[in-house]
Amino acid sequence: MPQQRSESTPMESEAVSIKTANPRSVYVHVPFCLQRCGYCDFSILAGRDDLIPRYLESLDLEISRSLEHLIQPPVLDTLFVGGGTPTLLSRSELEKLFSILFKHFRLEPDAEFSVEANPDGLTDERQQVLAQFGVNRISLGVQSFDAEVLKRLDRKHTPENVIEIFEQLSKMIPNISLDLIYGVPGQSFESWQETLHQAIALDPAHISMYALTFEKGTAFWTQRSKGQLIQVEDSLEVRMYQWAIEQLKSRGYSQYEISNFSKPSMESRHNCAYWLGQSYWAYGPGASRFVDGVRSTNHRSSFTWMKRIEAGDSPVDIFDELNTEQRARELIAIGLRYLPGVEKSRIEEQTGHRIEILLGKELVNLKERGWIEETKLCIRLTSEGKLFADAVACEVI
Ligand code: SF4
Repeated sequence: MPQQRSESTPMESEAVSIKTANPRSVYVHVPFCLQRCGYCDFSILAGRDDLIPRYLESLDLEISRSLEHLIQPPVLDTLFVGGGTPTLLSRSELEKLFSILFKHFRLEPDAEFSVEANPDGLTDERQQVLAQFGVNRISLGVQSFDAEVLKRLDRKHTPENVIEIFEQLSKMIPNISLDLIYGVPGQSFESWQETLHQAIALDPAHISMYALTFEKGTAFWTQRSKGQLIQVEDSLEVRMYQWAIEQLKSRGYSQYEISNFSKPSMESRHNCAYWLGQSYWAYGPGASRFVDGVRSTNHRSSFTWMKRIEAGDSPVDIFDELNTEQRARELIAIGLRYLPGVEKSRIEEQTGHRIEILLGKELVNLKERGWIEETKLCIRLTSEGKLFADAVACEVI
């Protein structure tokens, strides 16, 4: 990453407190899981369902306190309940969770209300609660249609479970996104082809696919360092990704983000709000929000998060007030994941910085490497740039 920053506007080093309208999006983190999957480094609690009532009390308190300055409950365009495994909660716990959310927030009639769900344990009863409370989008953690790959990922469901659940669920909640993972140790190209074919055969509105990453502190990380797990070759991972892009395109899915594909008009509105730099509230352990130009992240330990809230203290662990240059760079880095590109006028409106001046030489370098293309109105990743999105983000930040 270049050490020298190029010319930018005089506003660049001001730490600004930007008062914006109330966010229109909310993320809620539910940290409970049956067990920790070997590759997972999320903020979760495995096998501690006994803590769910205490978590719900803390969540209620956290939201109340964050909104106490408002007279009316805020109205949202998107609400996303993720985890963890929100659908690990029992029927009554799910009802309690949704009651808390609707005590504090109102949804626009056409709002997107998403919940992450695990095929394992997504009983009829739970599906009904989701539908009754107006959940209209499900992000289903399928990961693979290969039983061996699922076993390697420590997932408890089978490919048959997924098909059965999908068929039941889609009668009540038609907007379903399937989450898939590729580049799993031992996974062949043919196994990935079969997984994608089976996913497409279900005709979901949306498909997300992520390359497996090895995060420090996970069981997979340790097993790889001991030689017990062999990472797939980069070339195979790239082949899997590029082949999937072509397949999805030929079946009517458009790629609107590095890892996300949708049928027309079925993009995740909630995630688009992140990529377009809009503000959002977030609650729960490890949850990160962006409000009034400030990014703040809760403590990722569920215990610390609950204890702080119970003691009347702030659950925030990291507080980042960005100056306008940092804000512009962050907006560009995040926004480039959104493939239609980063509109120059938006960055200028939101931060006062012009992309061409702010990025200067970095932009020239990225274009020369063939990773970024520039039009009069925007900059965006090229097909090759999609493979180097993290490197591009590092360069921009
Ligand atoms: S189910 Fe998801 S959140 Fe829970 S441990 Fe596995 S990967 Fe992590």
